[in-house]
Amino acid sequence: MAAQKCIALIAHDQKKDDMADFARRHQKALKDWQIVATGTTGGRVMEACPELQVTRLKSGPLGGDQQIGALIATGEVQFLIFFVDPLTSMPHDVDVKALMRLAIVYDIPMALNSATAELLLTTDLT
Ligand code: PGA
Repeated sequence: MAAQKCIALIAHDQKKDDMADFARRHQKALKDWQIVATGTTGGRVMEACPELQVTRLKSGPLGGDQQIGALIATGEVQFLIFFVDPLTSMPHDVDVKALMRLAIVYDIPMALNSATAELLLTTDLT
């Protein structure tokens, strides 16, 4: 049997509510994945979906995004959902660019909004 694949979840600022809603709506599909998340996002997902097993890494500003980047580079994360908040200023910009770059280098699916995340999570391709 193939090893269970791992999905990474990150949500910035006001997008944390969207991520919690997304996880609630797609709890069944997410159960098929190992889940890693940045600290606060992971906490919100666990609150919304107590049945999901979530490994919480550091909070994004303290290095959690970089931890997820490292897991992409080592092949341990195969799918990234990253809800960037477009209505805040730029302090997260470097983190967004760094993870986009790694998702491109390692050719993993990356969703930046819930419409794309939904499409990718519900296809057999991921
Ligand atoms: P957080 O990290 O889930 O701990 O808030 C996300 C981020 O701000 O990069």
